[in-house]
Amino acid sequence: MSTSARAAVAVEALRTELQDFSLPEIGADDGLLQVEVAGVCGTDWEIYRRESRGRGLGPLILGHENIGRIVALGERAAERWGASVGDRVAVEEFLPCGHCRFCLSGRGWLCDKTDSRGAGPFLRYGSTPTTIPPALWGGFGEYLYLHPNSLIHRLSDDLPGEQAALFVPLSNGIRWVAEVGKGGPGGSILVQGPGQHGLGCVVAAKAAGMETVIVSGLSHSPYRLEVARALGADLTIEADREDVAARVRDATGGRGADIVVDLAPGATETVEIAVDAAAKTGVVILAGSKHGRAVEGFSNDATVRKELTVRGVRGRDYASVERALDLIASRRFPLELMCTHTFGLSETDKALRLVGERWDRAAIHVNVVPAP
Ligand SMILES: [Zn+2]
Ligand SMILES: [Zn+2]
Repeated sequence: MSTSARAAVAVEALRTELQDFSLPEIGADDGLLQVEVAGVCGTDWEIYRRESRGRGLGPLILGHENIGRIVALGERAAERWGASVGDRVAVEEFLPCGHCRFCLSGRGWLCDKTDSRGAGPFLRYGSTPTTIPPALWGGFGEYLYLHPNSLIHRLSDDLPGEQAALFVPLSNGIRWVAEVGKGGPGGSILVQGPGQHGLGCVVAAKAAGMETVIVSGLSHSPYRLEVARALGADLTIEADREDVAARVRDATGGRGADIVVDLAPGATETVEIAVDAAAKTGVVILAGSKHGRAVEGFSNDATVRKELTVRGVRGRDYASVERALDLIASRRFPLELMCTHTFGLSETDKALRLVGERWDRAAIHVNVVPAP
């Protein structure tokens, strides 16, 4: 093993620099991961822009959908995690404290100590500055420090790395659709926004046995809607050309969708559409970032009349990740269609811009492979 790690550091807004860091000494409670693949997420782009998020964070290594192999591991960490050197693992972005009321009720993703959008100091992969030792807090680097509070999941060696990196959007989809939305056999769902998380919701809905899965997206990205259909969506709608709510009602015998998930980044009108397209007693799940913008057309009266549940979600529980990894391993869904682009470490800026600026409209899940 080398003694230093090369990483792509987001030094300031929209600028990446390759830097070398010395590898940390590993004690009894922590470890070190050699990163195999790191997925790029819309949150990486938001932080990279340093506008609505990440302004005060300083230089940092982005990347929080991390797959790799454990190359150093302390004795107590090995026992606690049930892991060994050489194990291939998925690492969640959260570093929950383990002792607060959220952690103790199984909702570690809400722990203040790992909340990058809270008021206080936090530790979290992909958004902790390199000025906090040992600097290696992101997946867009050759090595990732495994903090004692890490949440790791063991992976079999035969799982394709690029697909394994889908564990974040798939596990989020499983929690949001099946747990929060209570999606199950016979139900209907509208997913707005066929990016990686939207497609994760499609897979989760199909795996849960939902009957009518509808996806809406923009006509300039036909590949995303095509992949939605390949993953099992029964109907896709071009949101900029068609009346989404009317088409959802047509497809559901006039009732509307039992669950609507809104994932459209930055667009607020999709929240209005969600309320319009939802069935009576339906659940509207808000999972997309609107970059700080308020929703002006929100219909209080439709929400009251239909007794809707409007629910914000972020993150996932440990069990949903295990289920996502099982789903990936089952090869039941053609997930390879979601893995559209892979870049080397020196092209990290390009990978981030692909996710944020969509210079290739066909992009869905983008990966960085840091090994030289
Ligand atoms: Zn993310
Ligand atoms: Zn906590």
